[in-house]
Amino acid sequence: MSDNAQKLYYPPESLAKSAAVSGMEAYQALVKQAETDYQGYWANHARNLLDWKKPFTKVLDESNAPFFKWFDDGELNVSYNCLDRQVNNGLGDKVAIIFEADDGQVTKVTYKDLLGRVCKMANALKSSGVNKGDRVVIYLPMSIEGIVAMQACARIGATHSVVFGGFSAQSLRDRIEGASAVALITSDGQFRGGKALPLKPIADEALGMGGCESIKKVLVVKRTGAEVNMAAGRDVWLSDALATQADTCEPEWVGAEHPLFLLYTSGSTGKPKGVQHSSGGYLLQAILSMQYTFDIKPDDVFWCTADIGWVTGHTYIAYGPLACGATQVVFEGVPTYPDAGRFWKMIQNHKVSVFYTAPTAIRSLIKAADANESVHPKQYDLTSLRILGSVGEPINPAAWEWYHENIGGGRCPIVDTFWQTETGAHMITPLPGATPLVPGSCTLPFPGIQAAVVDETGLEVPWGQGGILVVKRPWPSMIRTVWGDPERFKSSYYPADFQGKYYLAGDGAIRDADTGYFTITGRIDDVLNVSGHRMGTMEIESALVAHERVAEAAVVGRPDDTTGEAIVAFVVLKGPRPSGAEAQAVIKELSNWVAKEIGPIAKPKDIRFGENLPKTRSGKIMRRLLRQLAKGEEITQDTSTLENPAILDQLKG
Ligand code: ATP
Ligand code: MG
Repeated sequence: MSDNAQKLYYPPESLAKSAAVSGMEAYQALVKQAETDYQGYWANHARNLLDWKKPFTKVLDESNAPFFKWFDDGELNVSYNCLDRQVNNGLGDKVAIIFEADDGQVTKVTYKDLLGRVCKMANALKSSGVNKGDRVVIYLPMSIEGIVAMQACARIGATHSVVFGGFSAQSLRDRIEGASAVALITSDGQFRGGKALPLKPIADEALGMGGCESIKKVLVVKRTGAEVNMAAGRDVWLSDALATQADTCEPEWVGAEHPLFLLYTSGSTGKPKGVQHSSGGYLLQAILSMQYTFDIKPDDVFWCTADIGWVTGHTYIAYGPLACGATQVVFEGVPTYPDAGRFWKMIQNHKVSVFYTAPTAIRSLIKAADANESVHPKQYDLTSLRILGSVGEPINPAAWEWYHENIGGGRCPIVDTFWQTETGAHMITPLPGATPLVPGSCTLPFPGIQAAVVDETGLEVPWGQGGILVVKRPWPSMIRTVWGDPERFKSSYYPADFQGKYYLAGDGAIRDADTGYFTITGRIDDVLNVSGHRMGTMEIESALVAHERVAEAAVVGRPDDTTGEAIVAFVVLKGPRPSGAEAQAVIKELSNWVAKEIGPIAKPKDIRFGENLPKTRSGKIMRRLLRQLAKGEEITQDTSTLENPAILDQLKG
């Protein structure tokens, strides 16, 4: 660890005072409460934070472990909890969504409007033959309609499966077939970075591939106005489907365990899994984490930059903020259009107070700001911000410091939220009015989450020693199963190695020897063993990124006859991609740098330069592909979620 990494950042006093969880004693008290009476802790929250049509009498049912049930005999409706109850509580005229389009146009939707739109869409779905329990695939750009579609499914008890609008026909086809979906909601096209891109044609291709015969109706949102093919009897413009619908719709009351949605993981470690989530337990933790992690207050303007195609866009756009009656920004475009100051300008214009984004975005905007003064965050008024968040990948200390200083003005706590598609909500995260921060550490478990670091046999390892991250007790918003594949659910998340006792996150972690703070060290298979020394790839990546010339780095191992494993580093520089003698000079400089930062043992044996790294469409580095490249092999793995296939050529040895 560098010296920087050990400096503690305390919550600003005013924030600490007014925060939902104020100070570490309050945090510890909650942890204690959950430990002493686990079921009582969650049951209290479930009674206080959710409106139940029929109250639950059972809390946690472990009789068919690891297929856990929460609040099983209770009945509720998720859309009712997000919309009707705000309107009933006098928030009908409050702005729910500030939508900013790619071209900068802003549309505001109040809670009352949103409820009406959701009811109309719900009625249109019913008229299209969608019934409670049916699956609906949503293949839409970031849009008000996207959120409305998700809420409408929830309202009628249909289970949605959102497919990110950047996915290919093949990925869409696989997900439609996997879910046996009866309806598809899509749009003619989408705007991204000033360009109109097709969507319906890709959907047509998917539907024509075979395997999608379950789809009876396709509802098409008009967005770009591009001419599209409409199959008679099957395809309907959404505006036509809505025209005759009433703007009220009685919610369908469902059991707490009713599947609210399926969502495929991003595929950075293997073939994506269809993660199935519940209604009651899921919404409970969406709300609780909005309150504890983001300290959401009535006057806040919340902005999560994720896409609704990812779990972050589910919990922290489509459900959490609405269920809390918050005002949130929803953004159609990309962070670099019309220029790389777009995020900062939007924070300024909409007076965003809680901002939640991903390390990959931060790193690319650092690179842009370094290259061009005019898009540097200092050109914008960011004083409305009070809390910053990070999600999706470990944030390296150098990027953390930049985010803290340049975006947060040194005054905003950064909540580095560790969680997964499978966990439904934050698992390990600082609480902004309580937890002293250490850059690069996601700090401590969310109150009620029992996380631990264990060895291969499931024994807890001492603080200061790296190991495998597990969760010891089931929690309300957890994955219920892998859709259609209960065996894969068991073997992936409750493997026999731990006698099926612990939830296996798939990430490695280490707890700080003094504070017990958690740092994620990378995926379990991202631990390198060089001449008997065990190292996390993250540590070497952080060292590389701390070098002034490096924008981004990914490190993997490759088998080596002498050292067991050798370190291969894939590096993106802030300037152009070097070649020839210049590349050799930079390689030498970076090797020496890593040796100085960590030790000679961590020196990469092979450093390669690219203009970018292979990433999933959610911006995560696909290390499994890099591992294959490092070995000099042709790529034979599943690349269906890869954003930029062309980059692979640059990174070949
Ligand atoms: P797949 O499971 O298909 O390989 P994925 O794990 O990338 O894909 P997600 O569920 O979107 O799919 O991502 C969860 C993972 O992201 C975590 O397991 C962890 O590796 C990483 N992650 C998310 N947030 C953080 C964070 N704050 N710090 C460190 N790692 C994080
Ligand atoms: Mg995963």
